[in-house]
Amino acid sequence: MTTRTMARLTRIATQHTQWCAQDHTCGIDTHRARPVVTARGSGRAVMTRTRAADVEYAEVVIRIPLHRNGNTARGQLATLLRLLGELLDAVIVRPHVLTGRGERFAIGRRAA
Ligand SMILES: [Zn+2]
Repeated sequence: MTTRTMARLTRIATQHTQWCAQDHTCGIDTHRARPVVTARGSGRAVMTRTRAADVEYAEVVIRIPLHRNGNTARGQLATLLRLLGELLDAVIVRPHVLTGRGERFAIGRRAA
């Protein structure tokens, strides 16, 4: 009986995509676009389109200053968790909302 004490990790190199940065931020099998930043006050969110092997996803890092008061900070965290759930619902569970067939909030009409 043979036992393997170390996992063998092999990664197959993949080609750069049309949207990736094509620089040191890309790895052998992971490609990243240039990050996009949005900010409100002293908070900010950084989103990076990423492809690892054959899976594409968005990496999001959010930095949110919390209030010094513990109860207020806990309220902020609860609000954050609720809104992150709603964000995931809107982007993953109900992506048709984002394809232009849903309500167009900016003009208050439905798309054809
Ligand atoms: Zn790349």
